[in-house]
Amino acid sequence: IATLRLDRLLANMGYGSRREVQQLVHAGHVMLDGETIAHADERIAITRDLPERMLVRGKPLDPPPGVALMVHKPLGVTCSHKEAGPLVYGLLPERWRRRDPAISTIGRLDKETSGLLLMTDDGNLLHRVISPRARIPKRYHVTLDRPLRGDEVEIFAAGTLMLDGEDRPLLPAHMEALSERSAHLTLTEGRYHQVRRMFAALGNHVTALHRDRIGDLALPADLEPGHYRILSEADLASIF
Ligand code: URA
Repeated sequence: IATLRLDRLLANMGYGSRREVQQLVHAGHVMLDGETIAHADERIAITRDLPERMLVRGKPLDPPPGVALMVHKPLGVTCSHKEAGPLVYGLLPERWRRRDPAISTIGRLDKETSGLLLMTDDGNLLHRVISPRARIPKRYHVTLDRPLRGDEVEIFAAGTLMLDGEDRPLLPAHMEALSERSAHLTLTEGRYHQVRRMFAALGNHVTALHRDRIGDLALPADLEPGHYRILSEADLASIF
């Protein structure tokens, strides 16, 4: 288990400068297991249960480094600083945006796509999920402008579909029709605007797109758009 000096830990978590958090500790505002911590240089073991054990100004500590979150991304919010519009980072508490290491998205959703988005400050987790070799299935609920033709399931499953401007066919994808104009589509890769381009290649048009699953991790029905939840070990295990 990694340890960090308390002042370093709190400063990295956005609670203030090294000096500010030292003052906070010396003023008696940081408690661990029911006792006030007197020394800012005390070494703290970084464990997931720290928020249940440490209080800062009477409030549970934020999730320590190594955190993973799921966000219900609303429409109109972007995952990229390069795009115009409000960022997903704005959905997190203000202090969390000042953390080092920073919390970033695990992959991206288009501005006009809603649904399950993962975020973490853990580089290993990030790479395990986005690695093309991992081929983690991601399921999308797709709403279409025109009725399904009937041959989509076969065409997507064949692994031969070429998208405009690309030199390598798509991997096989699993589609399940839900109604005349809606389907679940499960991808194990993530090319630019992939779902929209797959249906465009067949002469259809995606009018709404929502991701509801990554691996076996489903977006919980009670997680409202714009809200987030910290992932448990069991949630993380269900991704792989
Ligand atoms: N495919 C898309 O077209 N957009 C997304 O956001 C995700 C998959």
